[in-house]
Amino acid sequence: MHRDKGAAQVIECTNPATGELLGRVPVSPPESVPAVVARAREAQRIWASASFKQRRAVLRHMLNAVLDKADHWCDLVVKDSGKTYENAMLGEILPVCNKLRWLIKHGERHLQPERVSAGLFTHKKARIEYVPLGVVACILPWNYPLQNIISSLAAPLMAGNAVILKPSEAVAWSSQQFLRIAEEALRKEGFPASVVQMLQGYGDTGAALVQARVDKILFIGSVGNGRRIIQGSAEHLTPVIMELGGKDPFIVCDDADLDKALHAALGGAFINLGQNCIAAERIIVLDAIYDQFVARLAQAAGAMRQGVPVLGGSVDVGSITTEQQIQVIERLVADAVAKGARLLAGGQRTAQQTGLFFPPTVLVDVTPDMAIAHEEVFGPVMLVMRVADDAQAITVANSTDFGLHSSVITRDPVRGERIAAALQAGATCINDFGLCYLVQDLPFGGVKYSGFGRMNGRDGLRAYTNQKAVLSDRWRLEIPPKLFPVGAFDYHSARSMIHVLYAPGLMSRLRHLVRLAWYSIRKRTG
Ligand code: NAD
Repeated sequence: MHRDKGAAQVIECTNPATGELLGRVPVSPPESVPAVVARAREAQRIWASASFKQRRAVLRHMLNAVLDKADHWCDLVVKDSGKTYENAMLGEILPVCNKLRWLIKHGERHLQPERVSAGLFTHKKARIEYVPLGVVACILPWNYPLQNIISSLAAPLMAGNAVILKPSEAVAWSSQQFLRIAEEALRKEGFPASVVQMLQGYGDTGAALVQARVDKILFIGSVGNGRRIIQGSAEHLTPVIMELGGKDPFIVCDDADLDKALHAALGGAFINLGQNCIAAERIIVLDAIYDQFVARLAQAAGAMRQGVPVLGGSVDVGSITTEQQIQVIERLVADAVAKGARLLAGGQRTAQQTGLFFPPTVLVDVTPDMAIAHEEVFGPVMLVMRVADDAQAITVANSTDFGLHSSVITRDPVRGERIAAALQAGATCINDFGLCYLVQDLPFGGVKYSGFGRMNGRDGLRAYTNQKAVLSDRWRLEIPPKLFPVGAFDYHSARSMIHVLYAPGLMSRLRHLVRLAWYSIRKRTG
């Protein structure tokens, strides 16, 4: 895949594992964006009137389409991204089904108007309504082509919005085919397919979408582009959800079950060849087990089989998706080695004619002065850091600008909870890697440079609504009293009323109640 933008009118899409040309996707030029937004607004007016039953039906059609043609979708994912078939099935089809089913089952409940207390105003009724925002833009990365498209559009769609997707140029070919899953589902229920649209292109198309006065932007991508999007969104004060990078710590305590730790660490570092926002980017190991654990990591990583993805289980990991990403990985590994880190497995791009192959790599004795200790690798590099105790593990874990996910492996539940509580991250998984993401009732998102706002769960759904406050009459009473014209005792009676309501201690309240009565008599008698 070529990422040069310039004046490109098509995106040349290639299979990163073989170099095979997959197709050419026309670029949506920035000037085409306003018309797409206008079409989305029109379609949204119709979609906003869809009952929850109809919204559920659309999502149900999508779920069925994902299930019925799971092999086909996996094939597209594999060809466009270079990941393995097994990874596509477990890392794309499973989370997408999980998300759709959660929304079908629980979405309506979380979007129903909610009665809340009217507080002081007992004569009124208060409720929160979850009103669709209008048009939601999703600007997306390349690492999970199917999941990024379907999971990103599903929540705003359920909440009654139109959606405009801007997939990564690196997976334009498969993205346009995934769009059909939503279009077909909408058509089946009699809604315009333009409720969900797609803009293809590079950063300039994304930037035009940011400026197009949509009602919310979901951005999933790098920190640098996240900043650009926030700057662009300032023009129209468009709210944004930022799902950015990570440098997740994976702490292995000295009492850990090492088989379990090894299994989770391999998954954390090498699922999707580490091109995973919640990859275990730093394996932080307690001194007492460091040498023993590192030897096992190196042995297991060194035995992994890499190649062009095929069905049948002969390949553990596939290829990197973009040439740019391989260059990032190479730069960070070379810097670390130059500063004294040791390579125990992998470490160099595999000399292969066409594919983008970088092998599972184990880099040990990484220290904080190395760029790789702080910058996101987004590749198959298991970097290992030695720490003396829990306190140092926590300090090292919290020492980067990121705070997406984190893991801690220990046999002691109290110790696990104590370390988890001290980690600055959007989530901590105790004795596992990454499972939080699959628990749809849990919010997903980061702190610090990993972003803000949440996907998944109740809050991830309500994020696509205007949480509108409505106060209506229970009884028709004139409380608060008429404010104008201001009378001679109004200031004093307001002060007494506030004390009656909030003063600590009964005597003080009673004193002010008497005063309040007196001011009110004076007011009436003039
Ligand atoms: P990227 O920032 O390069 O691109 C993301 C999207 O932004 C692409 O569609 C791109 O075309 C678009 N874009 C680029 N410049 C733009 C601009 N100026 N205005 C508007 N849009 C613009 O990210 P990537 O390389 O595709 O993905 C990798 C990054 O995504 C990693 O940092 C990874 O951690 C992050 N990521 C985060 C999550 C999460 O949920 N936190 C999930 C997946 C990936």
